[in-house]
Amino acid sequence: MSALLTAEDGAPVALENADAGSRILLVCEHASRRLPRRMGTLGLSAEALESHIAWDPGALAVCQLLAASLDAMLIYQRFSRLVYDCNRPPDSPGAMPAVSEIFDIPGNAALSAAERLARTEAIYSPFRKGLSDLIKTRVANRRPPVIVTMHSFTPVWHGRPREVEVGILHDSDSRLADAFLADAAEDDAFVTRRNAPYGPQDGVTHTLIEHGIHNGLLNVMIEIRNDLIASKDGQRVLAGYIGDHLGKALMRLEP
Ligand SMILES: [Zn+2]
Repeated sequence: MSALLTAEDGAPVALENADAGSRILLVCEHASRRLPRRMGTLGLSAEALESHIAWDPGALAVCQLLAASLDAMLIYQRFSRLVYDCNRPPDSPGAMPAVSEIFDIPGNAALSAAERLARTEAIYSPFRKGLSDLIKTRVANRRPPVIVTMHSFTPVWHGRPREVEVGILHDSDSRLADAFLADAAEDDAFVTRRNAPYGPQDGVTHTLIEHGIHNGLLNVMIEIRNDLIASKDGQRVLAGYIGDHLGKALMRLEP
């Protein structure tokens, strides 16, 4: 355990389906809204701590359905991105944001270098190493993984409704995103868009770059509008939609 996390908090990283058979490696950086006990509430209301600023509602549930249906490994972060956003490098202001959409985060407003380092070492470093070790093992076993990171976004942002329902995001390597979008173009079940509602210009492709592109691995980031996955039925429908097109996209790339 680190100085930040107690035995009661448990480990920062969780791994499910570790010996899964498919090449797909699901990653969920914003799976949880839990805060370590020592962090208190960061000065936030209960409403803020349950909102999308703390986590990606529904994303972990969709990952778990996909892990089962695709026979895929799943790695996820067990603490809120308000403590440390694992899709950001330590030198990014967004790693420990002082403001998120319409909320000020008092507990992140004046962090010292030592406090930033403690959070990085407790939350980010084990996550980065856990993911990196999984990839190294698979590459060494000649089973290079396909990196799929799963996120959700709020339907209303700064008061404006968002039309996009599923975002397929990529950085400089668009192979898997292109194949997914080509396949999904024949399916009008959801409004699916490239690099929306975020894209590489927003700094959201850190995991893709660090673990996918730097290792030459196929990679994609999938963003689902969170109102579509608020219920178990919705989670099943979206997991079906994504699993279907992801499987077909991989067939297009490596028949
Ligand atoms: Zn996210």
